[in-house]
Amino acid sequence: MLDVIIIGAGPAGLSTAFWCDELGLDALVLEEAENVGGQLHRVYNPIYNYLGLKAGNGAELLEHFAADVNSAEFDLWTQTSISSVDLKAKRVSLASGEDLQSIALVIATGVRPRELGVPGEKEFIGKGMIESAARDRDLFAGEDVCVVGGGDAAVENALLLTDVCPTVTLVHRGKKLRARREFTEQLQTMHCITVFPESVLTRIIGDDHVEAVEIKRKQGLKPFQLAVRGVLIRIGVEPNTDLIRDQLETDQNGYVVVNSQQETNVPMVFAVGDVSNPLAPTISGATGAGATAAKVIASRLNTPGRTL
Ligand SMILES: Cc1cc2nc3c(=O)[nH]c(=O)nc-3n(C[C@H](O)[C@H](O)[C@H](O)COP(=O)(O)OP(=O)(O)OC[C@H]3O[C@@H](n4cnc5c(N)ncnc54)[C@H](O)[C@@H]3O)c2cc1C
Repeated sequence: MLDVIIIGAGPAGLSTAFWCDELGLDALVLEEAENVGGQLHRVYNPIYNYLGLKAGNGAELLEHFAADVNSAEFDLWTQTSISSVDLKAKRVSLASGEDLQSIALVIATGVRPRELGVPGEKEFIGKGMIESAARDRDLFAGEDVCVVGGGDAAVENALLLTDVCPTVTLVHRGKKLRARREFTEQLQTMHCITVFPESVLTRIIGDDHVEAVEIKRKQGLKPFQLAVRGVLIRIGVEPNTDLIRDQLETDQNGYVVVNSQQETNVPMVFAVGDVSNPLAPTISGATGAGATAAKVIASRLNTPGRTL
């Protein structure tokens, strides 16, 4: 019987585990990926907003985290596939057949990029799908590209691509872009960006590389094809709550509902980081929530701990 099982080893899960060690709790972190760090592996831009620490990108910030994590004493199992979780019983069953039991459970499973669900989206990964303009734009220098989405991430990526791409077509569903004004104002000065509002990308076309996209504009207009060599999709994220969604309270988008102590509506089940923070997902928010959960668990278990 463990004190705490933490599911997910992004910033939130790692911070929870780090604090559990600090407070004398016996913790195990289960991570399905090969490496810890979660979304930090997808942050290619510099991180200037984590107080006290600047990093050139997510991987660099992760190195700082790793230095502390490696010196802490908690168990971490990566590449671990969970087949089911019984929240009330605090029992986690692994695909390997092993059952694990704890007094408290912490859900730190973060979010994943939302998929468009159109033909070609998966088939052209590595063959014209752009994961990040900051990372990949040089590969698309001189090529026409298409960006899907109307929020900050889509518009910021479209702007970055204008540095190297002759044309950038931005396709979004809404009437107006949702991106912050700083980005939309900049966009208006860019003559190489064409914006298609109230439009959806319905197909990505090509043989062994992206060659075109099919765009459907609303109001009965016929879909048309646009020749592009690259496609970047940024249509938001969704929470990784598939394992537990029907056992606890979530909002209409599947995010776990927590109180100010990171508690869910199931006793001794906590949620931390982006999976429970749809409005303000940040690295600092995730690490802070992990600290809160560990301290609350420690006080519930009546563990004196070193810093309580
Ligand atoms: C491009 C980009 C730029 C960003 N820039 C910034 C920035 O400048 N500043 C900032 O503060 N934030 C930034 N963020 C947001 C920040 O990365 C997140 O807020 C933070 O990573 C959230 O941490 P988390 O631990 O909650 O979730 P995640 O980082 O998503 O980690 C969740 C972990 O849980 C694991 N997991 C999921 N499901 C399971 C399962 N069933 N079993 C086991 N493990 C599971 C995942 O593999 C992952 O490792 C950025 C994000 C992106 C994508």
